[in-house]
Amino acid sequence: VNKPFHILIAGAGIGGLCAALCAVRAGHRVSVFEAAEALEDVGAGIQLSPNAMRVMEALGLGKALADVGVAPDALTARMGKSGLSIFRVPLTQATLGKWGAPYFHIHRADLITCLATALEQRAPESLCLGRGIESFTQDAERVRVRLATGEIIAGNVLVGADGIHSSVRAQMLGADAPRFTGNVAWRAVVPVDRLGEHVPAQDATVWMGEGRHAVTYRLRGGTLVNVVGVVERADWQSESWSEEGAREEALSDFAGWHPSITTCLENAGTLYKWALYDRDPLPRWTEGRVALLGDAAHPMLPFMAQGAAMAIEDGWVIIDALMRDDPAAGLKRYEARRHRRASRVQAMSRANMKTFHKRGRVAQLLTYGPMALAGLIWPGLIRRRLNGVYGYDVTAKSGE
Ligand SMILES: Cc1cc2nc3c(=O)[nH]c(=O)nc-3n(C[C@H](O)[C@H](O)[C@H](O)COP(=O)(O)OP(=O)(O)OC[C@H]3O[C@@H](n4cnc5c(N)ncnc54)[C@H](O)[C@@H]3O)c2cc1C
Repeated sequence: VNKPFHILIAGAGIGGLCAALCAVRAGHRVSVFEAAEALEDVGAGIQLSPNAMRVMEALGLGKALADVGVAPDALTARMGKSGLSIFRVPLTQATLGKWGAPYFHIHRADLITCLATALEQRAPESLCLGRGIESFTQDAERVRVRLATGEIIAGNVLVGADGIHSSVRAQMLGADAPRFTGNVAWRAVVPVDRLGEHVPAQDATVWMGEGRHAVTYRLRGGTLVNVVGVVERADWQSESWSEEGAREEALSDFAGWHPSITTCLENAGTLYKWALYDRDPLPRWTEGRVALLGDAAHPMLPFMAQGAAMAIEDGWVIIDALMRDDPAAGLKRYEARRHRRASRVQAMSRANMKTFHKRGRVAQLLTYGPMALAGLIWPGLIRRRLNGVYGYDVTAKSGE
């Protein structure tokens, strides 16, 4: 019933670019307004789990991402100090077959480049850099955005994909009230050839310990290690992805830890330091012709590595939901289809923070002991826990 829409998107991050590609695929006209002058991403990796890769494959980007991604050999949990294995569940072709798509570790810059290049080819000049959105107005016919340049642009729908500090969300719902979790994350990318014998395996590994944990995985043909170290401390509260921290401080946070972690911290070029905030699910994501997506709608702690995956799933659903109705009804349906899933993954991410940081021998034994047993006796049990997240196929639910 619908004519193609002109869809305005705030933000050319992972969620905004993905929604734009879905919109172009569906025959809509799209304009993506990005505040930054250039699409640069901080050096960091991202895990694209099968549920996100299904959307990428539906967009015809499976091969391009396979070319720049690394497929992990296994999902692994180890004790942070001793390196003792808690479990190691191989990710074979058979398991991936069950989840229906591959699992890749990708450099964020490579992912953004892949998405932006595809958009540039499929909808030339739809990406508008250095043109952030300041505010919006709407009536029964249209939504209008005011850009920082002073321009006013009209369209049929506005998608607020402008990230964790979204200005579209602020206008829609007022200032948000994030809670500092008491956790600080160190993030770095390190060339493998600097790590000698201490290079972490080509697995997705969580290293667990008292009041802290670390995650390691490989990027770019296995030549880089991505390391994230999360530590409970209350003295740093800046929620930025691009602020740098001092090496001695990172090393003191992980003093006595396994050399796989400390060697990474010793040899990393830049160490980013990021305070982790938690937020409750928002009461709503839409207002008439305007909807929020990705981190703007449901920012989550990184302990399930699903923030980008949820933004990617959102991009598919929001465009699918616009196929049938007038924009406002379509956006309401999008919210109804996504709110429960995103809120659930938000809650799972929060729960993982506690699991990863068990204090004291008894608590560690009670938590990690059964996990180790399950890993030994029945790796399927650990995979099954992930089925609901990784096995979810948002592309199969089209038109609901
Ligand atoms: C350390 C770390 C590790 C992570 N690991 C994973 C992982 O392994 N797997 C995973 O799925 N997720 C992961 N995430 C989460 C993931 O990166 C985010 O959830 C994801 O980037 C959200 O995408 P987005 O498009 O909603 O927002 P963003 O990627 O933040 O993009 C928002 C964009 O909007 C732009 N913008 C802001 N304001 C405006 C404005 N007013 N007008 C126009 N443009 C604007 C910004 O410049 C930016 O380009 C991780 C996050 C971190 C920090």
